[in-house]
Amino acid sequence: MTPIIGIPCGTFHDRAWCPPSFGHRKPYIDAIVNVGGAPLLIPPIQDEKVLRTIYERIDGLLLAGGGDIAPTYYGEEPHKHLGPVDVLRDQAEMPLARWAFAEGKPILGICRGMQVLNVALGGSLYQDIPAQLETLLEHNSSYTREDWTYMAHKLNLDPASQLAHVLGLQNMMTNSLHHQSIKELASGLQVVAWAPDGVVEAVEGLNGHFVMGVQCHPEALQGQADTRWQALFAAFVTSCVAYQQQTLLVA
Ligand code: MN
Repeated sequence: MTPIIGIPCGTFHDRAWCPPSFGHRKPYIDAIVNVGGAPLLIPPIQDEKVLRTIYERIDGLLLAGGGDIAPTYYGEEPHKHLGPVDVLRDQAEMPLARWAFAEGKPILGICRGMQVLNVALGGSLYQDIPAQLETLLEHNSSYTREDWTYMAHKLNLDPASQLAHVLGLQNMMTNSLHHQSIKELASGLQVVAWAPDGVVEAVEGLNGHFVMGVQCHPEALQGQADTRWQALFAAFVTSCVAYQQQTLLVA
């Protein structure tokens, strides 16, 4: 059966006098459909029981990109260069990430999604790379150039990682649209890729299940700019199929 991939939504305020809308950019949806998954957008519901009801119907969790996470989640005061936070989204994504990790449901985190995963499991973030890290690399250059496919920097992968295995390579160029990055790593994760300046660019879970996070935006590359990234989404969806079949057997 086609696995259902839950994607928790971001909150968008188009006009001050209108209620917010919930959604995501189209490439996240395309990337899942392209490899045989069925994406399901999850609104940021505050009632945890209702959220749990939706969570139980999904076969995998895709934590997508977006704004900054409220630093209170890792015990810090907001830095002056902290970007806009999405309170509703934080509240929904933290429990979803913890449930999926604890229960072995496959997780793919992209950009903010990798950071949510790290914070949900007890890690912390640099709130602003230019202000808090000494680096000559511009990690937001695909954004400032207004080109999601601009290859901003090299990605060096741990050759022993699942990600290197899935992609079939140990280094590549990638896009970069972020101003935050992982500081303290959560105990359930390991770093598997770095930018040349040492910034964490990918993590994997240590819970024995499919858990991957990437700091770049493969959904924006997989369609045309670098189709090698389709292998990551395919591996994720394959794991979701396996999870689904395993839960059907138990039931
Ligand atoms: Mn980067």
